[in-house]
Amino acid sequence: MAVSASSLITDPRELSTLLDLPYEQLAAVHAQYPLRVSRYFLELAKQYGAPLLKQVIPDLLELQDTETPADPLDEENLSPVPCLIHKYPDRAVLLVSSECASYCRFCTRKRKVGTKDMVISPSHLDAAIDYIRATPTIVDVLISGGDPLMLTDAHLDQILSRVRAIPTVRIIRMGTRMPCMLPARITEDLAAMLAQHHPLYLNLHFNHPAELTPEASTACTLLADAGIPLGSQTVLLRGVNDSAPVLKELFYRLLTARVKPYYLFQADLTRGVSHFRTTIHSGQAIMRQLLGYVSGMALPKYALDTPEGGGKIPLCPNYVQELGEQCLFQTYTGTHGVYPNTLWPEEGRTK
Ligand SMILES: *Cc1c(COP(=O)(O)O)cnc(C)c1O
Ligand code: SF4
Repeated sequence: MAVSASSLITDPRELSTLLDLPYEQLAAVHAQYPLRVSRYFLELAKQYGAPLLKQVIPDLLELQDTETPADPLDEENLSPVPCLIHKYPDRAVLLVSSECASYCRFCTRKRKVGTKDMVISPSHLDAAIDYIRATPTIVDVLISGGDPLMLTDAHLDQILSRVRAIPTVRIIRMGTRMPCMLPARITEDLAAMLAQHHPLYLNLHFNHPAELTPEASTACTLLADAGIPLGSQTVLLRGVNDSAPVLKELFYRLLTARVKPYYLFQADLTRGVSHFRTTIHSGQAIMRQLLGYVSGMALPKYALDTPEGGGKIPLCPNYVQELGEQCLFQTYTGTHGVYPNTLWPEEGRTK
């Protein structure tokens, strides 16, 4: 394993001692959902408080949320072979690891990540890679999990080489929360190995400005210095980051670490996660406080991954008020304006 077990807390008894929380609560949730926190992140979360603690500490509300679907994005039905999710025509997700350095309580794959139900065997991987090879419409492969950086460099290198060897694959993306949860996992060796597989994009996952510690920023810089383009995905989470000033600071800290904010996700309709969901209304109100006021480079796309596997849709607030012969719009400051919605010269007169 690339990550030493001693750097991770998995025992509810130990966690209850470290946080002075009732053991029964942690054990009850742990009986249903996996529990793991890196020592690094727990230390940070203890210093910072609720917005970080909530992301990783089991909550009894998880158990009370029983009606919500376990697999809202219908991923199991979109898996032609195990460990591959093929939803969009030109891209597919390859799941290479069932584990993470910490288990986010709001994980969209909470039904399987970190559980014994998520098995990624060598034959599954073979079948998934065969499928990608046999499906030339797939040009963009997203390596995910779990967290791919739970694998050793050598193992990951081998998987990346096999995907890279498929001539129809144009770009590879990898999703990881390791720079946030265990920045020490990001080494010069790892960055050098990843850089062998260009074009390779890394999508990181940060939810709160306090997560961008000097260690996390250094990890990002190390990857950026290796020439790896970095993006970040953020989940809009109630009581964690559902405020414009918090997100503004997060996005600027990411840009400063050379990470481009890519998506801000409305929380998925996942069982055990409902207490984290905000309304879309409040998400749009937050975006309105940022659009125009904050560097365009800092702003991700606010999106919803729609239930039942419908795919992602933009939730960006609407500034167009009427669209006919004229476009009536509102500016970010709230003033109104008009733009002609016709061609000039008239259609048919252009050469
Ligand atoms: C999110 C996702 C993608 C990638 O979507 P982009 O909008 O291209 O970033 C691909 N496949 C699945 C199944 C996804 O959930
Ligand atoms: S790092 Fe990603 S895959 Fe792992 S628990 Fe968190 S959200 Fe889920």
